[in-house]
Amino acid sequence: MIGAGPIGLEAALYGVTLGADVRIYESGRVAQHVAEWSHIHLFTPFKMNHTPLGRRILEAEGWTLPENDAFQTGAEWRDRYLLALAERTVLADALELGYRVITVGRRGMLKGAHVGNGQRAGELFRLLVESEGGERYEETDVVLDCSGSWGNPNWLGQGGVPALGERQSRDRILYYPVDVAGKDRGRFARRRALLVGDGLSAATTAVALAELAAEDPETQAVWVTASAAPTPIRPIVDDTLDRRADLVRAANRVALAPASGLEWVPGSTVRAIRWDGGRFRVTLDTPKGERAEEFDEVIANVGYEPDNSLYGELQVHECYASRGPMKLAATLLSASADSEGDCLKLGGFGPDVLVNPEPNFFILGMKSYGRNSSFLLQAGYEQIRDVFTLLTSEPELDLYGRYDVTAER
Ligand SMILES: Cc1cc2nc3c(=O)[nH]c(=O)nc-3n(C[C@H](O)[C@H](O)[C@H](O)COP(=O)(O)OP(=O)(O)OC[C@H]3O[C@@H](n4cnc5c(N)ncnc54)[C@H](O)[C@@H]3O)c2cc1C
Repeated sequence: MIGAGPIGLEAALYGVTLGADVRIYESGRVAQHVAEWSHIHLFTPFKMNHTPLGRRILEAEGWTLPENDAFQTGAEWRDRYLLALAERTVLADALELGYRVITVGRRGMLKGAHVGNGQRAGELFRLLVESEGGERYEETDVVLDCSGSWGNPNWLGQGGVPALGERQSRDRILYYPVDVAGKDRGRFARRRALLVGDGLSAATTAVALAELAAEDPETQAVWVTASAAPTPIRPIVDDTLDRRADLVRAANRVALAPASGLEWVPGSTVRAIRWDGGRFRVTLDTPKGERAEEFDEVIANVGYEPDNSLYGELQVHECYASRGPMKLAATLLSASADSEGDCLKLGGFGPDVLVNPEPNFFILGMKSYGRNSSFLLQAGYEQIRDVFTLLTSEPELDLYGRYDVTAER
C-alpha cells in the first residue's frame, strides 16, 4: 500500500484479514492529510466513514466507536477511528511511517516493455522508498496506490496556468482550507484576505472568514470565482446530505450579503500576484476591467491533482481530462452527467474499472478520481471490496458482509 490514509488503512486491513503479507508505506503520520484538515467537519455521518470490517475488528478489541450519526471533525474521526485502526489492530505491524515511495517500476522492465502480452505480471514490482535513514528498494507482487492528491494543489491562475508571479510566491500562498477560527485566526483577524475557488473547501473558508468578520468587523475578505453564475457555489439538487447542503447555503448567503465583510467578485481571475515581503500585490481580471489590490493573505482553494510521477515507469492509461486512470475516469464522466453534481450518486461501477494495463497495479481512493473532486469514502470502500475480488479471483468475496452502501445511508 502506498499511503496510510483512510483508504490505504482499510485496504490494508482487508488484505491482512485475507492472510496477505501487507506493508503500508506512509510518508508522514497515519492519515497525514486528514490531520492537515483536522478542524473541518466531515459532511457525511460516521456510518458513512467507516467499514463493517473496521467496526468488527475494533469492537473485538474492546474499542468503542463513535455513534453512527455523529458528524465529526477531521481530528475526531482520525482520533476515534483511523488511529485506532492503525494502532489497535494487526496493521500496527504493517505500517512503515516516514517512508515516502518515490517511484514504482517493474524489476528489469522499462515502461515500454511487453505491451499487452501479460508478461509484465511475471516480474515483481520494484519500489524506491525514501526515509530519514536513506533510500532502499522494496519488491512486491501487488501495489495499491492510495496516496491521495491533497499534497499537490492546482495553480490559482486562469485556466490552471500559474498567475504571473505565482510560482515565485508559491510558498507564501495558502493552498488548503485554513483554520480561520482556530490556529490561523491571527493571520486573518483585522487583516485583508483574498480567497480564490468555488468548491466545498472554498465554501468552508468563505463562511469562516465571514464569521470572523462578524466578530471582528475590521476583518475584510475578497472572494474571487471564475464562474459568473448567480451564486459562487452551485447547489446540489435535492441534496440528501444536510451538512453539505447547509454549507453551500451558508457560503452563498455570505457571498450575497453586502454587510458580511466578504466581497464576492464573480467571473474573475487572478492575473498577477507578488509577495513584496509584507503584503501581496494582486491584479484581478474582472468583468469591469483590471483591479489592483493588496492583501495580507491569499488562500487558493482551487483543487488538487494526483502526483502521477510515482508510476511513470508503469503502463497506466490516464484520462486526458481528469488525469485519473482511464476506465474509471470514463465511467465517472458519463455517470457525472446523470448525477446533477451529487457525488453520492456516483459508485457501484464494479471491479473492471479499476483494472490498468499494468497488471496488479491499482489506484484507489481520492487519487483514483484524478482532478475530479467528487470522491466519497463510500466509493473508496467499494473499490477495496472490488479490488480484492480481482486479486483473489473470487467474484463473490465480500468481507463487508451484506454491506450495501445505499442501505448504510
Ligand atoms: C477537507 C475535506 C473534507 C472531506 N470531507 C469528506 C466527507 O465528509 N465525506 C467523504 O466521504 N469524503 C470527504 N472528503 C474526501 C475524501 O474522503 C478524503 O479526501 C479522504 O481523506 C481520502 O482518503 P485517501 O486515503 O484516498 O487519501 P488521503 O487521505 O489523501 O491519504 C493519502 C495518504 O498517502 C500519503 N502519501 C502521499 N504520497 C505518498 C508517497 N509518495 N509515499 C507514501 N505515502 C504517501 C499521505 O501522507 C496520506 O497519508 C473530504 C476531503 C477533504 C480534503
